[in-house]
Amino acid sequence: MFTQKRILVTGGAGFLGSHLCERLLDRGAEVLCVDNYYCSTRGNVHHLLDRKNFELIRHDVCFPLYVEVDEIYNLACPASPVHYQRDPVQTMKTSVAGAINMLGLAKRMRAKILQTSTSEVYGDPQIHPQVESYWGNVNPHGIRSCYDEGKRAAESLFMDYHRQHGVQIKIARLFNTYGPRMHPNDGRVVSNFIMQALRGQPITIYGDGSQTRSFCYVDDTVEALLRLMESEPDFSGPVNLGNPGEFTILELAEKVVAMCGSKSEIIHEPLPKDDPTRRRPDITLARKKLGWEPKIALEQGLAPTIEYFRNMI
Ligand code: UDP
Repeated sequence: MFTQKRILVTGGAGFLGSHLCERLLDRGAEVLCVDNYYCSTRGNVHHLLDRKNFELIRHDVCFPLYVEVDEIYNLACPASPVHYQRDPVQTMKTSVAGAINMLGLAKRMRAKILQTSTSEVYGDPQIHPQVESYWGNVNPHGIRSCYDEGKRAAESLFMDYHRQHGVQIKIARLFNTYGPRMHPNDGRVVSNFIMQALRGQPITIYGDGSQTRSFCYVDDTVEALLRLMESEPDFSGPVNLGNPGEFTILELAEKVVAMCGSKSEIIHEPLPKDDPTRRRPDITLARKKLGWEPKIALEQGLAPTIEYFRNMI
């Protein structure tokens, strides 16, 4: 008999979570979306509210949750430096207590659970591009450490629940992801630059703009998460998920200005503390284990993202 999967998405009303919920519904799953709206909005999932397999619950993962599910995607945690540094204690609690609560639920339900970890576990990396076997170069008490160390502790909890309790886990290390439904004020580089360019305001480059990032379009990231959840049972990761195309922040600024048809000038502001200088995923493992690689180039993904922000303004 066909039984429909019940899938819990924590942080489901966030930018990435909302796209994931939508794809899961399209695939016929029953989706339980949990969010405390700390840095997300109901608006992100408004278009899903009348779909019969969709349920939305306001809940903070720092507290236990008792529901019946087959799979859990644990996305809940602010991911933008501006958001996660606003209440750093809460950020750490969300990563650590959230992981413990969701792993406890997975253990009770014998559910499979996927953790969205981050490229931040590599800190300011000393090897390039970053491979999963690299242990990272993280400042354990800096302003980014609430997020970096919180996510590292979560990875360790996931591995221990797996080894100690036999919980089926999957760990994704996400590099920068962008696309429609990013928060316009989350301070991230893609949303900041687009908003500034569309409003004709100066483009704020922190530092000289030579630092690099790799930007993955949200549809590619969601596809990778689905494949990871479905990957062979003995594969837990961690696995890098990101676009290996690497751009300096100055290159990104110039691209965004040109694509928006903007006259914004570029200005420089101080570089935030512990800002990583280079980021680029080695995705050999994702290619091998998931048969996945990103399909959407930066310009291709920026176009709908710019359109989204243009309509919002
Ligand atoms: N950045 C910038 N101007 C902005 C916002 C960010 O130059 O208005 C830089 C930031 O210093 C960093 C890069 O862009 O080097 C990516 O920043 P973001 O906050 O998007 O992500 P993360 O640092 O977590 O990768």
